[in-house]
Amino acid sequence: MTTPLLENFVAGRWQAGTGAGTPLFDPVLGDELVRVDATVLDLPEAFRFAREEGGRALRALTYAQRGALLSQMVKVLQANREAYEAISVANSGTVKADTAVDVDGGIYTLGVYAKMGSELGERHFLTDGDLARLGKDPLFQSRHVLTPTRGVALFINAFNFPSWGLWEKAAPALLSGVPVIVKPATATAWLTQRMVQDVVNAGILPAGALSVICGSSNGLMDQLQPFDVVSFTGSADTAAVIRSHPAVAQRSVRVNVEADSVNSALLLPDASAEAVDLLVKEVAREMTVKSGQKCTAIRRVFVPQGQYDAVAKAISARLAKTTVGNPRSEGVRMGSLVSRAQFNAIQAGLAQLKAHTTVLHDGTNTPLVDADPAKACIVAPTLLGTTDPDGTAIVHDVEVFGPVATLMPYRDIEHAYTLIRRGQGSLVASVYGHDAAALSAAALELADSHGRVHVISPDVAALHTGHGNVMPQSLHGGPGRAGGGEELGGARALTFYHRRSAIQASTAVLDQLA
Ligand code: NAP
Repeated sequence: MTTPLLENFVAGRWQAGTGAGTPLFDPVLGDELVRVDATVLDLPEAFRFAREEGGRALRALTYAQRGALLSQMVKVLQANREAYEAISVANSGTVKADTAVDVDGGIYTLGVYAKMGSELGERHFLTDGDLARLGKDPLFQSRHVLTPTRGVALFINAFNFPSWGLWEKAAPALLSGVPVIVKPATATAWLTQRMVQDVVNAGILPAGALSVICGSSNGLMDQLQPFDVVSFTGSADTAAVIRSHPAVAQRSVRVNVEADSVNSALLLPDASAEAVDLLVKEVAREMTVKSGQKCTAIRRVFVPQGQYDAVAKAISARLAKTTVGNPRSEGVRMGSLVSRAQFNAIQAGLAQLKAHTTVLHDGTNTPLVDADPAKACIVAPTLLGTTDPDGTAIVHDVEVFGPVATLMPYRDIEHAYTLIRRGQGSLVASVYGHDAAALSAAALELADSHGRVHVISPDVAALHTGHGNVMPQSLHGGPGRAGGGEELGGARALTFYHRRSAIQASTAVLDQLA
């Protein structure tokens, strides 16, 4: 039986590729679900249509009007949530809570930017900073303005967040007045395609504002012109290909990269027992949420030497309680990886790490619930440890994109900082303790090498949003190895989709641009 071929939406109409298509699978049962294909799409026309038709229509609207469109999109997506849950379980192997992180997280982010639109109001451009005098006479000054770029935003996304990955980028782009073309990762493209389909069918957005291309990325980058932007999430290897493409290297297309990251959790010296518990809980949670397939997940855990054994035991005890198996089964807390390719990659990465570390907890000894280990792409949580974090370079270099973390002891706080920095720049570090002065000192020490520092103390135990949870109000992205990108962070996210210009003129002219 042939499975359905998902259509692409470009140049204002649904179009099927003419090839046989690449199949997408249920990673738990192994069944083929749907196919994707982009063969013989007219890409120049797709990009022209989005850039010209979509861009013109979006720029004619104010921020408040575009915000209102985002609000309508939120309603449509909420109304279809059940379908998204079914697709996520089938194609990504997620348990309910993990589906929520992706689906509800995406819709929530869209809602936050919708509200921002109404706050920005009935205007077509933004100002950046105050008037700046250019000389003694205040009559002639400079003002910086931000106007929406007259290009398209191409999103090349990773497999782990087919919903959130789309909306966290599309929300600020559409609010800025910039049309979006999204190319989801093939393995989990179905959910992205379905969400775009629902929004398109609801007739909310102007023609050309939102397009989806499923299947091969061939030729996409070739379409980009100087005022377009590209936002990429995925591996460092593909990021390097994108950065060296002539569109970026020669035509100055702006690029944002979110790549891999070996994130850390740090237990401060002399932390209270409550703070230790918070670390233990968060590490176990981060390892198992979405089966560890989160770019922000904790991969390295640093604790004072004297606490290494106790923390190892406590994390292992928590992991032992995690029921792993078929996400459709009642009581299963951790589901599957998204694909056989990911299963193989994680096994290979784990073998590499295991060669240099000790296994502190091995969940593979517990049978899977309601899943055939020969078919299901499920890897149980594994906690590794090394008491030689200085000599074990591999734990600071290799990101195993699954339910795997490595525990390490440090001698003193400076040693801990040195070890954390060996990650070469990460998306997020979390710090655990009870003393506000020590926590703030650690946060500042780690800030320059991390996009986000998440500080957890007993007073915010019930309030904090989670080490790996990306909130639209806070920056997402990280320096160095993490790709050097910046996404979200409230209104700051809009700047990527605008051009900043200095207008030098009389104060009378500049007053018009307030
Ligand atoms: P990947 O292989 O680099 O793929 C990412 C995207 O790039 C997919 O849509 C892929 O399409 C596309 N692609 C592949 N080759 C391309 C090329 N030559 N030109 C243009 N596009 C191309 O990465 P992945 O394995 O799917 O993702 C896992 C990685 O993403 C992990 O390392 C993780 O750390 C990182 N990640 C980072 C974040 C973050 O926010 N920082 C979030 C999630 C994941 P196909 O699927 O069709 O090959």
